Amino acid sequence: MENYCFLKPLGEGSFGVVWKALHKVTGEIVAIKQLKNEVSRLTSWEEFLQMAEVESLSQLKNHPNIVNLKQAFMGFDGTASLVFEFMEGNLLQFMQLHKKRFNEAEIRNVCHQILLGLDHMHKNGWCHRDLKPENLLVKQGVVKIGDLGSAKKIQPGIPFKDYVTTRWYRAPEVLLGSHFYDSKVDMWAVGVILAEMFNLRPLLPGQNAEQQLFWICSVLGSPTMKSWPEGQILAGQAEYQFPQFSGSGLSFFIPSASESAIQLITSLLSWDPAKRPTAAEALKHPFFVGSHRIPRAIPRAIPERHNHILPNIGGILV
Ligand code: ADP
Ligand code: MG
Repeated sequence: MENYCFLKPLGEGSFGVVWKALHKVTGEIVAIKQLKNEVSRLTSWEEFLQMAEVESLSQLKNHPNIVNLKQAFMGFDGTASLVFEFMEGNLLQFMQLHKKRFNEAEIRNVCHQILLGLDHMHKNGWCHRDLKPENLLVKQGVVKIGDLGSAKKIQPGIPFKDYVTTRWYRAPEVLLGSHFYDSKVDMWAVGVILAEMFNLRPLLPGQNAEQQLFWICSVLGSPTMKSWPEGQILAGQAEYQFPQFSGSGLSFFIPSASESAIQLITSLLSWDPAKRPTAAEALKHPFFVGSHRIPRAIPRAIPERHNHILPNIGGILV
């Protein structure tokens, strides 16, 4: 790590810090995520290699829409440092900087790239479980899925059960404490993100899990025994009663979206996870079909002057 000069923090949380850093020899600018030992709790090299972010990214290498992990270091004190390609910012920052609404071609481009990355993840057996605008990284018109710290390997027959995803992007089955959710939780999050790109504000900003379900019911209409039978069982187990709403409908909440965009968001936001499309199916939706050229969504930023290929110096190359 002494080869790097730490320039400025890019993100900070309870996990540690993400730094913009410069490689002293090559001049390459990178992003280094340093996880505190309380977070990584590493006691062995095996544990380090099995960290969700290290294991998943070493298996998902070289996809243009997934952030590139260049190197990973484990400190003697149990800390972990992950060296990523440097990206200009996250999608939330780009939405906040964007003064006017994105047009539909721009939204289509971003969504297309997220789905390509997600399709690669899911097909390789990984579920992201924390998709949200802050975890989507952007550079010169390219969007990459980042922060795979909550990612989990999909093992047939072994369901996920931990409570995951940031609340506003959390699928209803997770909100209801399902012990059998799957990669469709990522598809729900894509639907919410897509709506947010149209409105430039979150679609479902609940302050707690109950309010989150309340929001979902008021937008989509409450689920029924017919639309989502498992939902009634989950609600019963959680001793929760859905509020009864017919739902104002997505076109009311996202007035600037075209009919095909509304159709796609509607299918992504199906109460029943089985009715949500896979990433590969979503990519075939008419929202994307007929768009021969996927235009650039985000204007080119100032070119990085220090962007060279980093040779494998120290640590492990993953
Ligand atoms: P956390 O586990 O805290 O959510 P993230 O991986 O999401 O960590 O990183 C936190 C923030 O740091 C991101 O939202 C983004 O703004 C910034 N960041 C992360 N990785 C990069 C990167 N490769 N290039 C530029 N900024 C990054
Ligand atoms: Mg994050």
